[in-house]
Amino acid sequence: LRILGIETSCDETAASVVLRETDGRGEILSDVVLSQLEEHSAYGGVVPEIAARAHVEALDTLIAEALARAQMSLSQVDAIAATSGPGLIGGLIVGLMTGKAMARAAGKPLYAINHLEGHALTARLTHGLAFPYLMLLVSGGHTQLVLVRGIGDYERWGTTIDDALGEAFDKTAKLLGLPYPGGPAVERAARSGNPERFTFPRPLVGEARLDFSFSGLKTAVRQAAQAIAPVGEQDIADICASFQHAVSRTLKDRIGRGLQRFRETYPDVGRPSLVVAGGVAANQALRVTLDSLCDKNGFDFVAPPLHLCTDNAAMIAWAGAERIAAGLPADDLSVSPRARWPLDGNAETLLGFGK
Ligand code: ATP
Ligand code: MG
Ligand code: FE
Repeated sequence: LRILGIETSCDETAASVVLRETDGRGEILSDVVLSQLEEHSAYGGVVPEIAARAHVEALDTLIAEALARAQMSLSQVDAIAATSGPGLIGGLIVGLMTGKAMARAAGKPLYAINHLEGHALTARLTHGLAFPYLMLLVSGGHTQLVLVRGIGDYERWGTTIDDALGEAFDKTAKLLGLPYPGGPAVERAARSGNPERFTFPRPLVGEARLDFSFSGLKTAVRQAAQAIAPVGEQDIADICASFQHAVSRTLKDRIGRGLQRFRETYPDVGRPSLVVAGGVAANQALRVTLDSLCDKNGFDFVAPPLHLCTDNAAMIAWAGAERIAAGLPADDLSVSPRARWPLDGNAETLLGFGK
């Protein structure tokens, strides 16, 4: 199976061709990503209207390039997979409509892919992972702990009740006058900081439910910065280190509970896996925390290469390939993009929000 994937849900425009062998092995034939970081950096966050326009301008060229790098023409692909949610509606419209038009013109089946399913299945492409496993998605828009039971079969065990983790990094950076995106800047500053100087809150730690909350942390950072104004370079480093320390402790508690719950749910899985996805997975300190947590609990810590943790189209193409291989039907060309689209159907009604 050769699948063309299209991704336009946030601030990356991406196209990719992925091959899936009948034995389930995958190979990325091409993977082209254009980040809009520069377009948005002046605003300290993603501006939806700018994002949508940038997708329109770049997408056709990127798709042509993805096909060229895979040395393939559109007629040679077996299907087209395009992200149809969740995400910024303007970008989703651009990608899904392009996918539909190409599917119609070339007479190929179209698969409308949930972006989160793309993240969830990536570890099967990179590591050939077997079901079930746990996935922690930590990005600018999402913070979720998801049980991946099978293709199209997910259970969201925890989510953020306010800010996403990447968002907390970005807001902290902004408060401290560090550049956007905040994650890398905070991590860099934290290296020369004292993690014990401030005791920031660790929301929900100790609670049985598996949710996350990060907005209180951001408020505490603001108060700490205001209390010592003007903040010097060492203060910034100390705040960043203390922030990261609080995040690390929070994840340890929350994810630790998730691992326990997995063990109780699947006592027969000898050595289960926790997979990370999302841009925050780039953070070395958090990786070390998760790695040692997994080690202690007898789990494998699976971290796909970073370019496949952040937004890309290979994961979308792969999700399409997995759906086809599992015998799931193609989507009708009348399918609509969905700004909100939880991976497990009930989650939205249960919690009342999409992220
Ligand atoms: P979506 O949530 O829709 O998948 P996104 O563009 O918001 O998309 P990503 O591109 O996966 O998410 O990740 C970007 C986020 O990752 C930003 O919030 C950024 O600050 C954070 N990030 C990147 N590097 C680091 C790091 N080293 N430490 C912590 N956070 C990081
Ligand atoms: Mg992004
Ligand atoms: Fe994403």
